[in-house]
Amino acid sequence: MAKKSKRETKKSTRSAAPAAPFSEALRVREGFVLADLDPRSTPAFDGKKKDGQRALLAADDELDDLQERLYAEATAGGMRSVLLVIQGMDTSGKGGIMRHVVGAVDPQGVELTAFKAPTKEELSHPFLWRIRKALPRPGRIGVFDRSHYEDVLVVRVHDLVPPAQWKRRYGQINAFEEKVADRDMTIIKVALVISSDEQKARLGERLERPDKYYKYNPGDIDEREHWGDYMEAYQAVFDQCSTEAAPWYAVPADRKWYARLAVQQILLEHLRGLDLRWPPADFDVKAERKRLAAT
Ligand code: AMP
Ligand code: MG
Repeated sequence: MAKKSKRETKKSTRSAAPAAPFSEALRVREGFVLADLDPRSTPAFDGKKKDGQRALLAADDELDDLQERLYAEATAGGMRSVLLVIQGMDTSGKGGIMRHVVGAVDPQGVELTAFKAPTKEELSHPFLWRIRKALPRPGRIGVFDRSHYEDVLVVRVHDLVPPAQWKRRYGQINAFEEKVADRDMTIIKVALVISSDEQKARLGERLERPDKYYKYNPGDIDEREHWGDYMEAYQAVFDQCSTEAAPWYAVPADRKWYARLAVQQILLEHLRGLDLRWPPADFDVKAERKRLAAT
């Protein structure tokens, strides 16, 4: 397939350039060890919290502009779209990403889906059924708050299906994502990595503040008991599903400001890489100006 090798060449040139520092620093490559990642670290960023917050706000306009170009391209028949997958343990800050990063984009250009425990109907279909239905249309940025990876995370930790079945899913996911990427969808998968201590502190805060009670779920404590199993399940995901077509990015998330900045920058770096141009007019501009002037 000539088309594919061309794209791969383009990608590898791009990833060699320092133009994408966050993607470079956080990409999960072969040999990545989750336990070696410091959740308080701030790769590719030298500043402190205030600097990070300022940098986040400063990039909002560019993000909004690039999203609009993506949308404009689709109105002219373009097929490209972006899918941002966000995974992370409870309290890892997925909601904050939705508010502070995705929230900066025109809501008309975003298709957000939060995946909960599957309904009866969803369970009667193959696990990728509900995922397929939620893929973004051309010109949109699709965002998954949790995803098909729950089917090899919570499902694996609790053996919600027989092991032989969840073990097959890594390969099924890779094949699915490759097909989707071939249809001009840029897939960005982000894992927000927090420490067990930080989770404890955040759950504690939810129990201290009445305005946070609504986020508290007693089941989160039960899940906490399986921390080690979850880390193993995440490591397996990184080992088996960080592919050329759909790489994983492991984002240290004990500092919320850093995680938000990093996800925003990874998204921006990918959008810049798409080289999005405003579509040319599909009408005679001069003639239309004349017609307008005559009114
Ligand atoms: P939250 O994101 O905190 O609202 O919680 C959503 C819940 O749905 C989490 O406990 C997830 O583990 C659970 N969940 C999401 N997808 C699946 C799935 N495929 N199978 C089982 N549980 C899931
Ligand atoms: Mg929760």
